[in-house]
Amino acid sequence: MTSTKPIFRFAPSPTGYIHIGNARTALWNALLARKSGGTFILRFDDTDTERSRPEYAEAILEDLKWLGIVPDRIERQSDRFGRYAEVLEDFKARGLVYPAYETAEELDRKRKRQQARGLPPVYDRAALALSAEDRAKLEAEGRKPHWRFKLSGATARWQDGVRAECHIETASLSDPVVAKADGQFLYTFASVIDDADMGVTDVLRGEDHVANTAVQIELFAALKAAPPRFSHHNLITSATGEEMSKRTGALSIRSFRAEGIDPLAVAIVATLTGTSESVHPLASLDALAALLDPHKFSRALTKFDPAEINELSKRLLHAKPFVEIAPKLAALGITGDKAEPFWAAIHGNIDRIDEAKHWWRLITRPQHFESAEPEFLEHAADLLPQEPFDLTTWSSWIAAIQAQTGRKGKALFMPLRLALTGRESGPELKAVLPLLGRQACLARLGPAPHS
Ligand code: GLU
Repeated sequence: MTSTKPIFRFAPSPTGYIHIGNARTALWNALLARKSGGTFILRFDDTDTERSRPEYAEAILEDLKWLGIVPDRIERQSDRFGRYAEVLEDFKARGLVYPAYETAEELDRKRKRQQARGLPPVYDRAALALSAEDRAKLEAEGRKPHWRFKLSGATARWQDGVRAECHIETASLSDPVVAKADGQFLYTFASVIDDADMGVTDVLRGEDHVANTAVQIELFAALKAAPPRFSHHNLITSATGEEMSKRTGALSIRSFRAEGIDPLAVAIVATLTGTSESVHPLASLDALAALLDPHKFSRALTKFDPAEINELSKRLLHAKPFVEIAPKLAALGITGDKAEPFWAAIHGNIDRIDEAKHWWRLITRPQHFESAEPEFLEHAADLLPQEPFDLTTWSSWIAAIQAQTGRKGKALFMPLRLALTGRESGPELKAVLPLLGRQACLARLGPAPHS
């Protein structure tokens, strides 16, 4: 019985931190699953037990969670070695795989010879010609075989969700190694067994996997399983030339997190870059999901500018309504009656949420800033209206000062801004006055308190 709901998966190898390029694949899969009411599997491709680390698997889960993605299921290839061994035995019995004895150095020499003769570096199938005696002799020498899956040589065809009609001659490919001499299973073999066993209906991944698809289609056939729908998206690179690397952590999801960037900004840029949708502010991941359709991927390699993430993060922050930001403000200690008017006053003046803390301290704690114009401030203090203060207090106050002193423009408001906030720029003073209240204003306009 086949399920009608799609099953997507993201299958990173836990050998480093995920970067924006990996997150792009993860988000597309997770959001398409969400949009279609399907399932999103996070599968750790950890057959390489030497390079895979449980702490990277944890970190990937954590980074996805930060982006707003929680997998419906988590699978680990390292839990499934028994199953791969079973399939390998079945393939051996059916003559679908053959043992090969070349060492890595011997294979390398073969490739170099082929290259020198201008030939593609495709495995020559020398092992297929070995007789039972040849094999026995090699094994007596202590050689252990690795196992190769015998490709049909036919043309593999599929309808790609991004690239439309695709075909690859499997004769142009090496028979893939499915298990190494030390017993380690290789990605392509394990991946197809998983996709088949887990009922994966959709494989959406980077176009660096196009050639693998031809091989994998033949593996699905060998497993007597229907292949999933394949879609291969274009790859993105950083416009700054910074290499995306799981190994170096460059442009990693955690680096954006450490910089206080809004995860939604990262998700939007990661998902929409290299598609026909322009990068723009959106309210939620659901709104992002609604825009997604694999046909929107452009076919070309696309550059993205990390500065775009900062810019979008700022725009999202400036547009955040108080109800949404309140928990984050509370986490910074910004609570109480003043929290909402405070957010209304400062939201346009910060690039990152943690900067709210500086303004909160500046406004709520006793402060005094030296002024070059104490007399003007004294005069202004005399004209400060009585409470209650509201959003009109500022304009009536400066109108009174202007009438009395004849000062206008910057000469009028800058000494007041400096005395009240200690900075030349910042939130509108009409919003700051009610937050400070009359007492605090007078204290800041007056002489420095005796210490
Ligand atoms: N572990 C593979 C990778 O990270 C998965 C590719 C796939 O989606 O099949 O490239």
